[in-house]
Amino acid sequence: MPPPLLIRARFVLPVVRPPIENGAIAVAGGRVRAVGSWPDMARQVRGTVVDLGDSVVLPGLVNAHCHLEYTGLAGKIPPPRQFVDWLQAIVALKTSMTPDDCRRSWDEGAAMLLRSGTTTVADVTAFPALLPHAWSRTPLRAMAFRELIALQPGPPATRTLHTTVDEITGWPGAEGRVGLSPHAPYSTTLQLLRQANRAARVHRWRLVIHVAESAEEFDMFMRRRGPLREWLEPRRDMSDCGLGSPVQHLARAGCLNRRLLAVHANYLAPDDAPTLGRHHVNVVHCPRSHAYFAHRRFPLASLAAHGVNLCLGTDSLATTLPTLPAPLSLDLFAEMRALARSEPGLAPAILLRMATANGARALGRERQIGELWPGAHADAIAVPLRGATDAHEAIVQHAGPVLASLIGGTWAVPPPASATRPRQRRKTFPTHPRPPVPNPQSTHA
Ligand SMILES: [Zn+2]
Repeated sequence: MPPPLLIRARFVLPVVRPPIENGAIAVAGGRVRAVGSWPDMARQVRGTVVDLGDSVVLPGLVNAHCHLEYTGLAGKIPPPRQFVDWLQAIVALKTSMTPDDCRRSWDEGAAMLLRSGTTTVADVTAFPALLPHAWSRTPLRAMAFRELIALQPGPPATRTLHTTVDEITGWPGAEGRVGLSPHAPYSTTLQLLRQANRAARVHRWRLVIHVAESAEEFDMFMRRRGPLREWLEPRRDMSDCGLGSPVQHLARAGCLNRRLLAVHANYLAPDDAPTLGRHHVNVVHCPRSHAYFAHRRFPLASLAAHGVNLCLGTDSLATTLPTLPAPLSLDLFAEMRALARSEPGLAPAILLRMATANGARALGRERQIGELWPGAHADAIAVPLRGATDAHEAIVQHAGPVLASLIGGTWAVPPPASATRPRQRRKTFPTHPRPPVPNPQSTHA
């Protein structure tokens, strides 16, 4: 085994415990072996030292929702007047995409995420022919959730589900990195949702479902009216509408459980937040996509008050507005800044947790990724402090590429050459008792 890597920075943020000023992490065999103050670590660990100077080292970010294959659609759909207008536009664009377009988009999106500090992404794919080959072209930990759409119940939808399950279980390296994404309540049937949930339970997969994203979706299920209902009525069995909110629809399908990543959850009936909390559902908020559609305020406080595990995602560049002069890019730091602007009372430490440990928990990877602590995968990134004295604030305000990114103990974005120097010390690891993992019930400072 190569000698341990000892990474030092002005601050180390393990996320699962307070920041360590003048801290370091020791990495060996792809895992974090020790975390502590630099003087202690320098005394006790020998190996190659990477001194990242006036920077913050933190866990690699966990992007809990993305569509990498839509990266090339950046700026192609102006913000719509109605959600239905956007759906019609994306359906048309999807049918015009060639396999090469998808491949290029996926690779460009993965490169953008790496540059901006994401080390794990939950990616929804409508073009499974891309995978698993795309995985081999990037060090990013990309989990693939196969999109499923069915507007009518019956054998064809069931056959598609079975074919999909067979297909993704057969992918080399699929273990722990695949799942299903029945697209949304309005684009699926109760039967498909139930079957997908059953398959996810059997295979121990996560399920990703867009839910309650728009006012139109809420009106369609709650009141059996509105533009989405009118657009879908000629082609979809609408007997499941008028019975309650989109979240209640998922409850009827039996999909509310800790395996579910409910994406968006913008429009909730009064009982929905407690229901989501009671069933341990994970909710993924995508702040820039939310702003693109000009949705009403995200019910963050209510979801947090009911103990919902809140995570962050980028969604796709098809629903992201440019922020000139920077080019449009998939970037979880930009999502943190957007959420900090819309929720100024949100503590930066909670924002960071949403972009790391909470995403890890949603994906069933708690204690493996999204935190820096002995035993976790060595997925770490560094960002410059730029004069800030508060490490969390520096992270939430960070813009641009990261200084360095390590995935499984290997550099995905190498640090400056000047940061590395060989060093010889005693080869023992300091040990720390593992603290209990906090489960914040409130996201406000
Ligand atoms: Zn999405």
